[in-house]
Amino acid sequence: MSKVNYIDFHKTKVADYDAIVVGCGFTGATVAEQLANRGNKRVLIIEKRSHIGGNMYDETNKDGVLIHNYGPHIFHTSIPRVAGYIVNFSKMRPYEHRVKANWYGTYFPVPFNKTSMEIAFGKERANELIHKLIQKFGDEVKVTINELREQNDKDLSKLADFVYENVFLHYTMKQWGVTPEEVDPTVTARVPVFISRDDRYFQDTTQFMPIDGYTPLFENMLSSDNIDVALNIEAESVFGLHFEGPAQEDKLEYITVQYKKFDGPIIFTGPLDELFLWRFGRLPYRSLDFKFETKDEEYVLPCGTVNYTVNEDYTRITEFKHLTGQKCKNTTIMKEYSRDYEDVKNQIPYYAIINKKNNKLHAQYMNLVGGTHNFYAIGRLAEYKYYNMDQIIDRALSLSDELLEN
Ligand code: UDP
Repeated sequence: MSKVNYIDFHKTKVADYDAIVVGCGFTGATVAEQLANRGNKRVLIIEKRSHIGGNMYDETNKDGVLIHNYGPHIFHTSIPRVAGYIVNFSKMRPYEHRVKANWYGTYFPVPFNKTSMEIAFGKERANELIHKLIQKFGDEVKVTINELREQNDKDLSKLADFVYENVFLHYTMKQWGVTPEEVDPTVTARVPVFISRDDRYFQDTTQFMPIDGYTPLFENMLSSDNIDVALNIEAESVFGLHFEGPAQEDKLEYITVQYKKFDGPIIFTGPLDELFLWRFGRLPYRSLDFKFETKDEEYVLPCGTVNYTVNEDYTRITEFKHLTGQKCKNTTIMKEYSRDYEDVKNQIPYYAIINKKNNKLHAQYMNLVGGTHNFYAIGRLAEYKYYNMDQIIDRALSLSDELLEN
């Protein structure tokens, strides 16, 4: 028996709930959990997919391997309250993610570090470069590719060219369809050059994975009798949006559900352009296609993820068993292919494409909700931000505090 109260939206009386949450990823689940358990509020979650957990959803495939259906999700945080919060819902297994670049068949660590330099240039040359890097930036320091490329020193500039060409250029072209110069600098800054021997992908103080997977963790988050979940329901189709006037720019005033004005908090975690039926145009996102393959071997990759930084049309391959710690004789890997988000019905918007123009468009949509007292647009999609899981949990906890104080 599932711990979650799944209900039929069309048979429920929405007016009986204190709050509506749209979307059941980490943002929605965290706010729902907090309102229900701390605030004793009745919460209705509406989710357009056929399952909870958003992109964190995982399941055992037909080959018996636990997979992440929507790409690898590795939990890491340096935010104490997030680390303390998440352990309420699952036992955790320590896991530190490691990524290697497949560089013409040779592997080196990503982020590009001292070991990567030795593999790429040989020990002697690497030592000279490491020495120069330490002189310039210090030891155990992270340097973005953009910073490195600004250096005038001949050796450092050659190093920058190498890393740019062999780590960033092709991967970024595949992932975003544009060069590293054309993506927001915060995007490539996520994966800096690291003057270190530390070959972990993240340096956060807490790094672990839910021992039985994310789906059971979400089931525990949502297990309160105060929470009901209606799956396969699109907010656009059940919300009546009432605006201050007929003009495009006129603000949202209130929302009706089942023909009644809903006055409790509405926490909306989906894309705003969809909710407002693209009245200012589409917010661009990148989507992904995944190709799963099961092999009759215990492991096929040297670490959780291998990035294809110089060739292939996929960006990376993830082998889930490294992440999940599952022990079995076979293994499932997943190739990721990035693409434009074109088909709202059949694709998923995974990444906001952050730049001035798109941020401005998003701000126009945000402006529409400024007229309401009870509508909260929050999360990676609604805020059009590149949040990690821990950042959105943190934001959701803050919003919950705010809602519970009022
Ligand atoms: N990136 C790259 N080469 C790599 C890894 C990352 O060029 O080997 C760039 C690329 O633009 C990517 C960004 O850094 O989109 C952020 O990478 P991250 O691994 O954080 O992306 P995510 O796991 O969120 O898809």
